[in-house]
Amino acid sequence: MRPIVIAANWKMHTTPAEAGELAATIAARTRVDGPVERVICPPYVCLAAVRDALAGSGVAVGAQNVHHELTGAYTGEVSAPMLAGLASWVILGHSERRRDAAETDDLIGRKLRRAAQAGLRPIVCVGEQLADRETGRAEAVVGAQVHGVLGAFADDPAALVGCGLVIAYEPVWAIGTGRNARGADAAAMADAIRAAIGEAGWPDLAPGVPVLYGGSVTAANVGEFLAEPAIDGALVGGASLKPDEMAGIVARAGLTAQARATGVG
Ligand code: PEP
Repeated sequence: MRPIVIAANWKMHTTPAEAGELAATIAARTRVDGPVERVICPPYVCLAAVRDALAGSGVAVGAQNVHHELTGAYTGEVSAPMLAGLASWVILGHSERRRDAAETDDLIGRKLRRAAQAGLRPIVCVGEQLADRETGRAEAVVGAQVHGVLGAFADDPAALVGCGLVIAYEPVWAIGTGRNARGADAAAMADAIRAAIGEAGWPDLAPGVPVLYGGSVTAANVGEFLAEPAIDGALVGGASLKPDEMAGIVARAGLTAQARATGVG
């Protein structure tokens, strides 16, 4: 059975002092009985403060990016091995980085290999533009992203297996806009993503890959996505800075996790 994952993407928000306090508050407000993996991804400079604040809480720490090389003349960058002891997860290929840092599927694939080598659990983001959805191309576009990223493992397929790959389906038009995909559309995309992973060469891995939904998720709307068996959690941006919202989201995820574990609901 796939785990339920609720991951918080704090983007470029919080100072280290603010981050530690906020992380501790969220950890306290999101204690949950069901098997839900909680992850907080603050800016790099806040990783140590958040790690310290979350010690013993069961909430994991994630980074928001890594470089595709190990070391070198890359001013301002951070490589996967440098995150040892600071983070155990990493977000890769977020649409804001595809947009602002011109990240391509090929580059994201190389980052994914570095993350896998370093033992970081990756959340790889994919998602279509509004025009793609309106013209019926959403699944083709996202499928091509999956193939493009996983192409980095063509010479060593085994390297992908065992890294704990998670995919976040984040339609670009839903991020930070207050608009959501419909639950049924997101579920169809989750199925398409797993099909693409299988077609790309990992048919045995595909059924076990958790697919999260991301795009203006709140406590009020997360239920529509978690009600879909194909969707295994959420990558939360704006609402993840609000303890009340995170408490509601994780509480709902806990109910879903319990229901799936017992086969009821
Ligand atoms: C995100 O940052 O991945 C995201 C989905 O943001 P928001 O929830 O604000 O749309």
